[in-house]
Amino acid sequence: MRRPVIAGNWKMYKTQAETHAFLDVFCPLVAKSKHCDIVVAPPFTSLDVAAQAVRGTSIAIAAQNVHGQREGAFTGEICARMLVEIGCTGVIIGHSERRQYFNETEEGVHRKTKAALEEGLTPIVCVGEILSEREGNLTETVLQRQFEGGLGALTPAEFSRILLAYEPVWAIGTGKTATPEQAAQAHRYLRELAAVRFSFEEASALRILYGGSVKPDNIKGLMAQAEIDGALVGGASLDPRSFASIVNY
Ligand code: PEP
Repeated sequence: MRRPVIAGNWKMYKTQAETHAFLDVFCPLVAKSKHCDIVVAPPFTSLDVAAQAVRGTSIAIAAQNVHGQREGAFTGEICARMLVEIGCTGVIIGHSERRQYFNETEEGVHRKTKAALEEGLTPIVCVGEILSEREGNLTETVLQRQFEGGLGALTPAEFSRILLAYEPVWAIGTGKTATPEQAAQAHRYLRELAAVRFSFEEASALRILYGGSVKPDNIKGLMAQAEIDGALVGGASLDPRSFASIVNY
């Protein structure tokens, strides 16, 4: 049985004060929620505040990006060790906005995933097709390229420590959710790729989150699919009551 994960990606929203205000409301609303792992991913400047605010709860804090090197002359970048020091336990890697606006490549996703794993962080690695690729019947081709390029060179032990997020780009921030069946089909395909590249056991244990306009009113239908092990939530994770009701689906 795979334990569900509900993760919130705040993107470039919330100051430290807003992070405090969110967690003051959110933490009590999920204090009794033991059925899933809960992750909040604030921007870099709020990670420290968030990590302190969730101390003593079961909420984990993740960053939204990390550099692929251990340290070095990379102005403006943040390495995995820095994230661990301030209390992060995870990091989102390869989000479609990073691929689209910051030219993140499969090779970059691979390096970042390795760097995160080396420091003990849980990578939440995002994959997903854009609308023209889905319409051109290229969803599986794209998922295969992203899976193999980003994760194919991991060892089985490394692979067993990642979370995968299937996020069809056409559903992110658009209000268009993939149907539970569409999401489950993509998850099934990703699990097949994992079985071929790693093993049946690794593939069966892999937790695959769905992301793309997840809201309080569609989470139940998504989570009813055996293939869907959780959600990566953008917009609806910015409001503490809305995100708590997704956690408490
Ligand atoms: C995301 O940013 O990962 C995401 C899925 O956003 P939204 O829920 O707003 O579509």
